[in-house]
Amino acid sequence: MYRGRFAPSPTGPLHMGSLVTALGSFLDARSHHGEWYLRIDDIDPPRHDKRSFESIPRCLESHGLVWDGDIILQSQRREAHEDYLSKLRHEGYLFDCLCTRATLGDRGACVSSCRGHINIDGSVRFHLPIDAPEILDDLFLGQEHTDSLPENFIVKRRDGLIAYQLATAVDDLDEGYTHVIRGSDLLESSLRQMVIHQALRRPSPEYGHLPIVTDKAGIKLSKQTGALAVDQNTPISNLREALAFLKQPSPPKDIDRVDDILHHAIINWRRDTLKSGNL
Ligand SMILES: [Zn+2]
Repeated sequence: MYRGRFAPSPTGPLHMGSLVTALGSFLDARSHHGEWYLRIDDIDPPRHDKRSFESIPRCLESHGLVWDGDIILQSQRREAHEDYLSKLRHEGYLFDCLCTRATLGDRGACVSSCRGHINIDGSVRFHLPIDAPEILDDLFLGQEHTDSLPENFIVKRRDGLIAYQLATAVDDLDEGYTHVIRGSDLLESSLRQMVIHQALRRPSPEYGHLPIVTDKAGIKLSKQTGALAVDQNTPISNLREALAFLKQPSPPKDIDRVDDILHHAIINWRRDTLKSGNL
């Protein structure tokens, strides 16, 4: 049974880039007769925009992207996250780090002597084992080699907040997703999460990375770069635009209902068109 999800952070309204990711994960799930869930990844309160807890679900609904079950809130899993941290610490994967931004090495790795010391009040880092996976078998892209991961990365921040990599890695396991479809800007995150799965001796879901929407300068659309919210009054043209971006067959011009556009897109969904030239 296919079980997929869309997991936005509540940092603002959906923009075209996030709608593309939502649509791609929805279509991949529904075209495989799968379930599709909405999880709000709300574990970084300083970055939250309270209105987006409402606006994201409403925007999805106005585009016919209706999820199964209740909305899942990642923040509700705090205890489970801590349990996994204890488990990983017990198995020797974690260490406490007192480094500051200025003393961290290449790609934010701790390269000082934190490991091997007890550092209360530091951040908690995951130390990469030597057999960490380096290749990701992507559903759309085929075998993806990325630069090797930094030798360690944060799983709990110094301010006590659980880091995205840990929370997402273990929630994806416990919520039973078989497929994680996300933007290709998260390719390296997927590898980090696979390393955590391996450390927990649990199989990873299958990953598929979608092309990301950029602005004219080639920079990923995001709230930080001033991306505009999706106009909920024009769902048909938004969906047509997102389908074209995903290189899917365009629905006939006379289709003018959201559900009919989605129905056409589900039965015509193609993974192979996403393969090349997008990254
Ligand atoms: Zn350190």
